Amino acid sequence: MATTTGTLYIVSAPSGAGKTSLVKALIDSEAQIRVSVSHTTRAMRPGEVDGVNYHFVDHTQFNAMLERSEFLEHAQVFDNLYGTSQKWVEQTLAEGFDLILEIDWQGAQQVRKLMPQAKSIFILPPTQEALRHRLTNRGQDSGEIIERRMREAVSEMSHYVEYDYLVINDDFNHALSDLKAIFRSNQLSQTQQQQRHAGLLSELLA
Ligand code: GDP
Ligand code: ADP
Ligand code: 5GP
Repeated sequence: MATTTGTLYIVSAPSGAGKTSLVKALIDSEAQIRVSVSHTTRAMRPGEVDGVNYHFVDHTQFNAMLERSEFLEHAQVFDNLYGTSQKWVEQTLAEGFDLILEIDWQGAQQVRKLMPQAKSIFILPPTQEALRHRLTNRGQDSGEIIERRMREAVSEMSHYVEYDYLVINDDFNHALSDLKAIFRSNQLSQTQQQQRHAGLLSELLA
C-alpha cells in the first residue's frame, strides 16, 4: 500500500509542439511518473499501437463508455472524440505514481473543476513556422489534416493563460530539463517530503 498519493499533471499543447515526444522522454527517465492512455475514435497512425499510444475505439464503444460515466473528462478535438478513463487515473494516483494527462484545453478545464489540485503545463513551439515544419516532418498526417491543425493551433495556444507552467520547446533537451524541473520541484514540496520522509522527521524531532 502506497503511503504517498501521486500528483496529477495536465500537459497541453497545439498539435506538433512536441508534447508526446517530451512526455515520452520524461517517463522513460523517471520511474515515478506514468502517462494516461486515452480512448479515441481517431484513426490509428502508422507505427501507433493500440493500448500503448491510445485505446482505439469506434463511436459506439466511445458512447457506451460515456453513458456508463467511465470518463473523467472527454472532448471533441479535430472531429475526433478523446477521453480519459476515470478508474485508471484514480488507481494510478492511489498507487503513489505521479500521472500525466496529455489532453486538450477543453479536457483540462473539466479536470481542473473536478481536481483543483492538478498542476497544468502548456508546451509552446518556438515559432508558427517550426510548428508547421514539425507537423510536416512527423510525416503521419495528410496535408489537409496538417492545415486543419495549424488553423486550430492559435485558438489552442490562446488558452495558455489557464495553465500553471509554460514550457517553450525550442531545443528539445532544454525543454525536457524544464519539464523535469517542474516535477522535481513538486516532489520536494513540504507535503510530499513530509509523507515520503515521515520516519526521518519523527526521528529528528524526537
Ligand atoms: P497530436 O497531439 O498531434 O499527436 O494528435 P492527437 O490526435 O494524438 O491528439 C489531438 C489532440 O487531442 C491533442 O490536443 C491532445 O492533447 C488531445 N487529446 C488526446 N487525448 C485526449 C483525451 O483523453 N482527452 C482530451 N480532452 N483531449 C485529448
Ligand atoms: P505532439 O504530441 O505535440 O503533437 P510530437 O511529440 O508528435 O508532438 O512532435 C511533433 C514532431 O516534432 C515530431 O516529429 C517530433 O520528433 C518533433 N519534435 C519534437 N520536439 C522537437 C524539437 N525540440 N525540435 C525539433 N523537432 C521536434
Ligand atoms: P523519442 O522521444 O520517442 O525518442 O523521439 C520522438 C521523436 O522526436 C523522434 O523522431 C526524435 O528524433 C525527435 N526528437 C527528439 N528530440 C529532438 C530534437 O531535439 N530535435 C529534433 N529535430 N527532433 C527531436
